[in-house]
Amino acid sequence: MNAKTLLAAALFAASAASAPAIAQDKGTVGIAMPTKSSTRWISDGNSMVEQFKAAGYDTILQYAEDDIPTQLSQVENMIVRGVDALVIAAIDGTTLTNALEQAAALDIPVVAYDRLIRDSENVDYYTTFDNFKVGVQQAQSIVDALDMDACNPCNIELFGGSPDDNNAYFFYNGAMSVLQPLIDSGKLKVKSGQMGMDTVGTLRWDGSVAQARMDNLLSANYTDDRVDAVLSPYDGLSIGIISSLKGVGYGSADQPMPIISGQDAEIPSVKAILAGEQTSTVFKDTRELARVTVALVDDILNEREPTINDTETYDNGVKVVPSYLLEPVSVTKDNLKAAVVDTGYYTEDQLK
Ligand code: BGC
Repeated sequence: MNAKTLLAAALFAASAASAPAIAQDKGTVGIAMPTKSSTRWISDGNSMVEQFKAAGYDTILQYAEDDIPTQLSQVENMIVRGVDALVIAAIDGTTLTNALEQAAALDIPVVAYDRLIRDSENVDYYTTFDNFKVGVQQAQSIVDALDMDACNPCNIELFGGSPDDNNAYFFYNGAMSVLQPLIDSGKLKVKSGQMGMDTVGTLRWDGSVAQARMDNLLSANYTDDRVDAVLSPYDGLSIGIISSLKGVGYGSADQPMPIISGQDAEIPSVKAILAGEQTSTVFKDTRELARVTVALVDDILNEREPTINDTETYDNGVKVVPSYLLEPVSVTKDNLKAAVVDTGYYTEDQLK
């Protein structure tokens, strides 16, 4: 090694220690994920890193632990480090406008990943699942499992996702497309009267917030009556709701658990379904979402026309963002193994 290469090696080591230098091959993709507190986002991130690597790209993957300023500075940092494309699952879909302006000025394409980024024209594509259908599946799984003759009217309480996540409205509206007619006809009853995303939303998808709200719902409305079903839009909320219910004696032979939905097929909830505590979840294969996202970014960076399948649904307040929607799968005890084990998403051992 001569003096020049030694110096270069030292400089590289120094810069790698502070802000790792980008080793370019086909390019580098910055991936901003919301949080590691939910395993689905860990799977999303890992699948993308793996698949981008296989396609010849380097990646910078960062998680922001649900803190908006952290995510903003992570995205800004990726731009400064010269990424060729950005893939972002936003914490709050409205807070990235300035960073995205910088990205656009540098011709860095932006893909909104799973969650739509709102109020910005600088979102090029959106990859996600059919979010309205997720809500329909959640509600339909409740209706299918409820014995409507036995509990006529059946008492249901409603939970929504985070009001700063565009998806939460799609899930809620999809679910209400099934539930509202049954509420109107008197077959279902929301004893608390709490309805609408303004009232039932759960900031940051926080399970402890859902647990506290369920505690209140139970003590205010169900001291001499039973709640028969709970619409929950996400497994992490279902866990909080189930703890609350157990706290007042549900889950026993004379007081069985209500019917409870969920989303993401996270391992603790899959186990809860196997144990009969949670009724359903919605499986969204994050490997597939990674696959379509990697293909889309590869197409953009190689000036090929990306494959999309929806140009109508996702208006972000400034424009309709061209989207690729994947199909969600409704999962109960009956098809759980086929959905998550036979497809290799989990091993049987992980569910023991
Ligand atoms: C995702 C869901 C997830 C939720 C909470 C939503 O944007 O689409 O899959 O359950 O965020 O992380």
